[in-house]
Amino acid sequence: MPSIDNERGLFQAILDNAPIGIWMVDVRGKVQFVNRGFCDSTGITEAQFLAAGHYADVMPASVAASCLRSDRECLAQDSPHLSSEWLPFVDGREHLLEITKVRLHHDDGSIRGIIGLAADITERSEHEQQLKHMAHYDALTGVPNRVLLGDRLAQALARTKRDRGLMAVCHLDLDGFKPVNDRFGHGAGDKLLVEITRRIKEAVREDDTVARLGGDEFVVLLVGLQVPEECVGSLQRLLESIKQPIALNDTVLSISASIGVALYPDDEEDAETLLRHADQAMYVAKAAGKNRYHLFDPASDQRARSHHELLLQIRHGLAHGEFELYYQPKVEMRTRRLVGAEALLRWNHPQRGCLLPEEFLRAVENTELEIELGEWVIGSAMDQRRQWREAAFEIELSINISAYHLQSPGFVQRLKQSALDRGRLTDLRGLQIEVLETAALDDITRISGLIKACRELGVGFALDDFGTGYSSLTYLSKLDVDTLKIDQSFVRDMLDDKGDYAVVHGIIALARAFDMNIVAEGVENEALYQALLDMGCEVGQGHGIGQPMPAGELVNWRPRRMARV
Ligand code: C2E
Ligand code: MG
Ligand code: MG
Repeated sequence: MPSIDNERGLFQAILDNAPIGIWMVDVRGKVQFVNRGFCDSTGITEAQFLAAGHYADVMPASVAASCLRSDRECLAQDSPHLSSEWLPFVDGREHLLEITKVRLHHDDGSIRGIIGLAADITERSEHEQQLKHMAHYDALTGVPNRVLLGDRLAQALARTKRDRGLMAVCHLDLDGFKPVNDRFGHGAGDKLLVEITRRIKEAVREDDTVARLGGDEFVVLLVGLQVPEECVGSLQRLLESIKQPIALNDTVLSISASIGVALYPDDEEDAETLLRHADQAMYVAKAAGKNRYHLFDPASDQRARSHHELLLQIRHGLAHGEFELYYQPKVEMRTRRLVGAEALLRWNHPQRGCLLPEEFLRAVENTELEIELGEWVIGSAMDQRRQWREAAFEIELSINISAYHLQSPGFVQRLKQSALDRGRLTDLRGLQIEVLETAALDDITRISGLIKACRELGVGFALDDFGTGYSSLTYLSKLDVDTLKIDQSFVRDMLDDKGDYAVVHGIIALARAFDMNIVAEGVENEALYQALLDMGCEVGQGHGIGQPMPAGELVNWRPRRMARV
């Protein structure tokens, strides 16, 4: 060992003790110097290095070729040359070395050789690998986690797009996993998840991706499908395999799964939306009874969304005074005198203008909002009735009430209260409720009870669109109504259609026999007017007589002369 009391010895000691391999070769590759650290790690002695004609001769055959190549590259470039190389060490393992080679020059500029520096980065690289794995794989089951799923999904989508293929994003959630976890403990829960993961992987193809999102939620990407039916086969296999018995802590139990599926490109959306749609569909599968799959349907989702949007708009419109009642006059046909008006709902939509009931009433059918809207109609009609009364404008006022609203708990009580609060009236005489004949027949016992209760308050009742609902005479006598409104579809064509004429005629006779009032809807012209008058119809309503109009206009309204046809 050279003395460190001279400069060369000192440098030798520093180089020998450096935690990296250091060597120097001349332009022919003959070793000029190699430090102890490199010799100790590789098990190649300094003597072996120095004796070799070319250092590659003593290097393991597996790396010799790449050593020569990197030397050539280093000699050809001005900047340091970097590479990495696996090299067997004396500990019997291969180590990963990060090698830097630097070209050395004589004073005259000619090349003297190469200095090599080799840092052992095995541990660092293993650690990096480990971190990378942890960031991308689920620790319990070893399958990709949410992060890696994102990558895989993006790749699969790109490939499917390019190949004009088909793929399925499946969101799988176990049914009743929590009780198993609670009852058998988390250890058992984990075992179950591992086993389920194994089964899922087994049920799908090599190219498919199985990922765990956490808890008992998985996502499976089925790629390279030719037809949608192919995916159905995989889903059935998945469900079947998952529900097979599993041995856990001396018991055998079975668990099922619910799967929601978004098929691309049937559902042509981005990765995030597909995942959301699959998740949404999974909830549908759960709600439909679990242990099944449900395919997300883009068309019905669109419908549901616009339906939902419409409901929101109606609710908003109701809160912001966008609804209004129009009034259509009813006249006594013999005298053409105004005797009543029917309140008809209009929606002054900020963008779409004045909307008719057919554009929004169906959306609220049988919902809480239908009741809210109906209550608004009642309140608003009560206000109107009071105003008209104060102006000594006394006519019968009809409102349309849906059967669902009529049958809602407390309807009669609320009607009474509304009359007191809004109209400051205790007497509801002069108010008429129109209920569709078809709706009244649905639950005749309940409806007839409600009609009775309302009539005790003085409220009149009309069966609207009469003739469309096939009322039997027995029903008619049970329903304690005072008025029949002949549906406009019969009135419209009665002069050309013998059948319709007979229906109108029959209804008028029926009303007489039951001592009910009769109103004809859809009186569009003078000919119809005269014919109805001749048939003994007492009251008429229709475009020919008067259009529905804002409340303010009705007070000054006068019947105009009609065209004969
Ligand atoms: P409905 O109760 O039978 O009301 C008569 C409908 O016929 C009204 O339509 C009216 O504008 C229209 N009409 C009147 N005369 C004629 C005519 O000569 N020819 C033709 N072709 N049509 C005529 P609107 O206002 O569009 O209402 C449609 C339906 O919506 C109503 O039929 C009623 O069932 C329902 N509706 C209207 N307002 C309300 C309401 O406030 N609550 C409830 N639940 N339903 C309502
Ligand atoms: Mg009506
Ligand atoms: Mg009607």
